Amino acid sequence: MGSKMKSKFGGTCTECGTTWKEGDEICYSKDQGQNGSKIVCSDEKCAVEQGWKLSEQKPFFNKGGGGSSYQPRPVKTIEQKIGEVDIAYNRSMALLKDFTTKCGSLDAQQSAIFVESMTRTMIQA
Ligand SMILES: [Zn+2]
Repeated sequence: MGSKMKSKFGGTCTECGTTWKEGDEICYSKDQGQNGSKIVCSDEKCAVEQGWKLSEQKPFFNKGGGGSSYQPRPVKTIEQKIGEVDIAYNRSMALLKDFTTKCGSLDAQQSAIFVESMTRTMIQA
């Protein structure tokens, strides 16, 4: 993991001989060099030549999403909802008619239950 940081100590690069003092910005990596060796140099070009690469910062927008691409459902207006209910209700009535034609008539209460459950099913779909 490579990063840029303010040096806590002065030092000298073993590769290019550049020196830096405490507080200077240095390129630092504890495991990007050859055989997982440490890279530290105040000269970014030198550090990169040694294999240093700035680690990508992890984005912080996954709040509570667990990393998934969660997208909220689009919010529907009340008119859209009413429109959907109308369509679902009409379909349910058509299904009820079909059902009673094939299976015999239902009383009002059974019809209401049938239409209500069909309408709900269709709206949720
Ligand atoms: Zn160097």
